[in-house]
Parts: sequence; C-alpha cells; structure tokens
Amino acid sequence: FETIPTAPPDSILGLTEAFKADANPEKINLGVGVYKDAQGRTPVLASVKEAEQRILAGQASKSYLPIDGAPEYAQQVRDMLFGDRHPLAASPRTRTVHTPGGTGALRVAGDLLHTQLPGATLWLSDPTWANHPAIFEAAGVATKTFPYFDKASNGLAFDAMLDALRKIPAGDAVLLHACCHNPTGVDPTPEQWRAIAKLLAERRLLPLVDFAYQGFGQGLDEDAAGLRAICDAVDELLICSSFSKNFGLYNERVGALTIVGATPDAAEAALSQVKVCVRRSYSNPPAHGAMIVTTILGDAGLQKQWQAELAAMRDRINGMRRLFAASLDKRRVALGGSDNSFITRQNGMFSFSGLNKQQVERLRSEYAIYIVGSGRISVAGMTEANMDRLCDAIAAVVK
Ligand code: PMP
Repeated sequence: FETIPTAPPDSILGLTEAFKADANPEKINLGVGVYKDAQGRTPVLASVKEAEQRILAGQASKSYLPIDGAPEYAQQVRDMLFGDRHPLAASPRTRTVHTPGGTGALRVAGDLLHTQLPGATLWLSDPTWANHPAIFEAAGVATKTFPYFDKASNGLAFDAMLDALRKIPAGDAVLLHACCHNPTGVDPTPEQWRAIAKLLAERRLLPLVDFAYQGFGQGLDEDAAGLRAICDAVDELLICSSFSKNFGLYNERVGALTIVGATPDAAEAALSQVKVCVRRSYSNPPAHGAMIVTTILGDAGLQKQWQAELAAMRDRINGMRRLFAASLDKRRVALGGSDNSFITRQNGMFSFSGLNKQQVERLRSEYAIYIVGSGRISVAGMTEANMDRLCDAIAAVVK
C-alpha cells in the first residue's frame, strides 16, 4: 500500500479525535452534533432503556431482516413523517426502506439517483452539512449549490434561493433540510416553505428531504411542516430520516429512506431498484436500533415518555441559545454584527456563529474549545457550567 496517500481526517469527527487527545481538563467540545445534558453527558434515554429490556426479554431469533427492513418499522417511520392521519402515511404510493442511519439513507438515495436518474444533478444549499457533497460524490452523483444563508441578516437568503431554484433544469434533484438546518440553524418559515414547494412543483424538480432532527426544532409535527407542504405540492420525492438525535440512538445506526411515487407502480419500481442498491452495499439493515424505535412508538406509555424526553432535550438547547446570546451581550460581543438575537431565532443543535477560521483556530489552540472550521457551534454541547469560560474565550478572540 505504499502508493496510497494518507487521507485528511474528517472535518467533524476528526475534531472529536483531537478533542479526546487534548489534556486540558477544561476543554469544551462544540464540534460534533451530539446532544449533551446539563452535566455534559450523552445518556441513554429512559424510554430507550425500557424498550431494550422488553426487546431482550422477548427476542427469539436474530435471523436476517428483509433487504428493506421490518414492515412495522416502515409504518412507524411514515406515521412520524406525515402524521398518522395523513393520506400518504398508509398509501401504496409511499414505500420505506430501513437504512443504517440517516447517512445510510442518503447514500442509498445517491445510489438510486446514480443508477436510475443518471443525468440528474443534485443541488445542495450553500452551506450544507460537509458530508452531503462527499456522500453524493462517492455515489457518483454530480452536485451543485444554490444560495441559502444570508450573512448580513444571519437569516435565510430567501429571494436568492428562489431565483436559483427557478433556474435549475427540470428533472434535477434538490436537497432540502426539513428542519434545524445544518450548519446554519436557519429554517424557512411555513409560508416560505409553501413558496419553495410550489416552485419545486412548477419547475418539476425532485425534492430530496433530509430529516435528521425531527423534534429538535419546535416539535415533532411543527418540524414536519416543510416536508408536509412539499408533499401537498409535488407528487414524487425522497425523504431521508435519522433517529440518531431524536432517540439518542447515535451508535445504533437507525434511519430510513422513504420514497413517494406519483403512482403505486412508480413507487414499487423505485423501491425495487433501491433494494438492488442495498443488497449490493450492506445486504440488509441492523435490527436492534429499529426495534427500539418500533417498540417505543408502538406503545402509548413509552411513546409519551419518549416525547417528554425529546421535549426536555429541545428545551435545554433553546435555553442554552438564550443564555449564550445573553452571555455574549453581557460581554459586549455581537457575533451578528449589531447583536446576538439571531442565535435565539435559529433552530436545532447548531448555530452558525460568524466566527472565522482564525478565531476558531485560536479557540482550539489557546482555550481547548473545539468548533468546526466554518464557525458552526453545537449549542447542544453548551452547559451552564461551561458558558462563562466559552464566552470569555470568544470575547478574547473576537476583540
Ligand atoms: N443529515 C444531517 C443534516 C445531519 O446533520 C446528520 C447527522 N450529523 C445526518 C444527516 C446523518 O445522521 P446519522 O447518519 O448519524 O443518522
């Protein structure tokens, strides 16, 4: 292998490795998007623990799952995406494939685009999650970008986004973050979603909705408003779900690819091709994590407990947003040009802070504070205990 060049470390997971190796006892990891509680831990949810006990007690076999996973899981995924009374939740136009995590869903979607729609370019928001272009490049799908983030307002570049979408050739695919946009935390309003959905339909573009944070923004149904607006407007789309964050099942690798087809036959054909892609890649999905999701969503008591745990995670993050903005205000540091109010308007785990590469580098080398080079801060890693140290350090590097 002496001819093989060494690859650079992953821009986000590589940061966690560097964090682990740092000997500073006051180090703070605001890199990777992993939820931490007020004590800085990432605990197993109590509802998940209870579900696991039930699964272990009742499990009779570890035989293979079907290529597309268990049907009960697929139904639970659809009920959560659309709401269980939505016509698409039980429609034969909608088919769901259980995948290893949201990343697995994105890769399988990429394989489908590459094999079945080979001329299509996939359009990504600028910026987007760093792994998006990488996943689709690996699958052989060409990508381009459309404007999304407006630096001046720290908000959505809505007009520029719509102008760009208007110019995309019919038949291309557009990746949209359903909520809690990674890395910016900036989401369209429900009204803006309706305008985006209308344009996707008029221009005959294929939406690929990445739904990695359902329940982390405003709530399970509120966060699905954009997806449901798109479903009202277009007749075909792909949805990639992840349960890594909302169930805290990061290392169980639980996700799904949902196909909505214009007709049941179209959905069935697309599903058959997805199954070919899966068989050639990882053959069939891992069972345990999906069984946890099915057990929780299939039991009224566990579902209620899980929803309360999800709400507690969401509320803690939103509390940290407010405290972060107030702590910066107190130090007369304005990351948003004039103030810090944009931080409390963003959704989900991340805040696009506006810190530049040099400032991020100084935070790491001088203060052992780890942030992704783009300035994306994981708000979920903030605690009351580390907030003052964090904001003092930011004040020092910004001034
Ligand atoms: N999409 C986005 C936007 C994400 O932020 C993530 C997780 N970082 C994923 C997909 C995939 O999540 P996972 O593979 O861990 O389920």
